[in-house]
Amino acid sequence: MALMITDECTGCDACVDPCPNEAIAFGDPIFIINALLCTECVGTDEDPQCELVCPADCIIPNPDFVETPEQLQEKYDNIHS
Ligand code: SF4
Ligand code: SF4
Repeated sequence: MALMITDECTGCDACVDPCPNEAIAFGDPIFIINALLCTECVGTDEDPQCELVCPADCIIPNPDFVETPEQLQEKYDNIHS
C-alpha cells in the first residue's frame, strides 16, 4: 500500500531525502507522495522512512493503493530495474 500525506503537512522537507524511490515531491501547499513510486519502503527498509522522520505525523496509508508485500517488492524491482 502506498502512503499519502495529509493536510497537516507543514512543508518541512524532512521526508524527501530519506525516500529510497524519490517518491516525494514539493506540492502547493503540501508535499505529495507519488503512489506509483511508493513501496512503503519494501525493498530497502523494514519501516517507511518518511513516516519515521515526519514531525507532523501526517503520513498515512493511501486507501486507493492497497498492495500486498509481494506486490510492493515487485513494484520496487520494476522501479529500480
Ligand atoms: Fe518513499 Fe518509503 Fe515514504 Fe513510500 S514509504 S514515500 S517509498 S519513504
Ligand atoms: Fe510534510 Fe511530514 Fe514531509 Fe515535513 S516530513 S514535508 S511535515 S510530510
